[in-house]
Amino acid sequence: MSTPGLPVSELMSRLQSGQLTSVELTQACLEQITRHDSRVGAFLSIEPEKSLEQARQIDQKRSRGEPLGLLAGIPVAIKDVICQKGTVTTCASRMLEKFVAPYDAHVIECLRRADAVLLGKTNMDEFAMGSSTENSAYKVSRNPWDLERTPGGSSGGSAAAVAAQMAPLSLGSDTGGSIRQPAGLCSVVGLKPTYGRVSRYGLIAYASSLDQIGPFSHDVTGAALLLEAIAGHDSRDSTSVPQAVPAYSQTIDQPLQGLRIGFAREHFAPGLDTEVEQSVREALRVYQKLGATIHEISLPHQKYAVAVYYIVAPSEASSNLARYDGVHYGHRASQFSSMIEMYSASRGEGFGSEVKRRIMLGTYALSAGYYDAYYLKALKVRRLIRNDFDNAFREVDLIATPVNPTPAFKLGELVNDPLAMYLSDIYTISANLAGIPGISVQAGFSSGGLPLGLQLLGAPFAEERLLRAARMFERETEWHRRRAPLAG
Ligand code: GLN
Repeated sequence: MSTPGLPVSELMSRLQSGQLTSVELTQACLEQITRHDSRVGAFLSIEPEKSLEQARQIDQKRSRGEPLGLLAGIPVAIKDVICQKGTVTTCASRMLEKFVAPYDAHVIECLRRADAVLLGKTNMDEFAMGSSTENSAYKVSRNPWDLERTPGGSSGGSAAAVAAQMAPLSLGSDTGGSIRQPAGLCSVVGLKPTYGRVSRYGLIAYASSLDQIGPFSHDVTGAALLLEAIAGHDSRDSTSVPQAVPAYSQTIDQPLQGLRIGFAREHFAPGLDTEVEQSVREALRVYQKLGATIHEISLPHQKYAVAVYYIVAPSEASSNLARYDGVHYGHRASQFSSMIEMYSASRGEGFGSEVKRRIMLGTYALSAGYYDAYYLKALKVRRLIRNDFDNAFREVDLIATPVNPTPAFKLGELVNDPLAMYLSDIYTISANLAGIPGISVQAGFSSGGLPLGLQLLGAPFAEERLLRAARMFERETEWHRRRAPLAG
């Protein structure tokens, strides 16, 4: 195992004892990137000098005995949807090819305060629209477990960067599963916090009522540390909730007594791969062995989640993406003879086909005459989906589900079939619609050696419980110790 593949807690103790410096660790990450990223395609940009300079300063702070932040000296890769001051932030779109962020996102400020090292910007589906990272305007990312397959999306680069041991931690964003789905496909831990737990200030908006930023890590403890560093109130995001942040990393190793875990019959429907299903059933047995009780629950409106999401998310996206008009910032066409032509040529050239599809879907759903039939109805069903969860969480503490209906699919397999691609989000989308937190943890491998994930969903602001429950499973199963067999 290379150094950046070690668990964050181990890296932190080596840094503390002086066995390892942050410069050495950052260099080891950069070496992994040099060795493997031409094949994996996890990063869109790195700035080695800047990262090493940050690491150097943290090492000096440590040697002077100054107080250090929570993630002192640990490199973190950042999905390219998050603004980092002075760094190109493209959202994997031609539209923002030359956009240099003029300010830091809230989460970047938090990372600087935590003395983390900003390692580089990771590949993603353009504007976070997709489930395979094939919608990037720049390159395809590959699954480190099988380079012919997708790492998932839209945060595929962030998941692959951790899985390929290029970064011990990374940040992604999750609007409909974009952290949990790639985590499941790449055998890493990924967590989507409760809506409002992490500030969206400086996160380039896709669908504002669904978007949340969250961590990727090899293990649950690493995810807890990174969440602890980025969570908390921020007055610049009006949906950020002023609720104290528990010290997630402190309680993580305390097992939960009397844990009640639900599984929904609606989640075990046709279309679910048998090995995926078996791994979730096996996970339930593990929890039972650990003293949890298992309860069958019902989420009757779950079947509408994908349909509702693909009205709500594109509607919000069509509004959010109206700002890319070629005037304020972003791509501007060079040839036009009128203002309207300038708008349409700039947008026509700047956006890729999936983004255009979403804008058209959303504009249609919001237009006069269709608003009530589509958008308003979708909002009503969204409420029913949330009610289902509220009811379920009166009976159980957590809900266990698959993350993905199948293991990682081949690159090119679904990209020309948008509907099939949309259905790969069937298990993750409802958490965003309901605003609840969810975590994806490693739950084994298929007979073909592909990662399988387990999703745990919790009530709003139950991240602490979610992390502790995930850690109980991890400690018992040890799937998180395996690393992708990268050649070269
Ligand atoms: N795959 C979903 C979509 O395409 C979710 C993406 C996300 O969570 N950002 O919209």
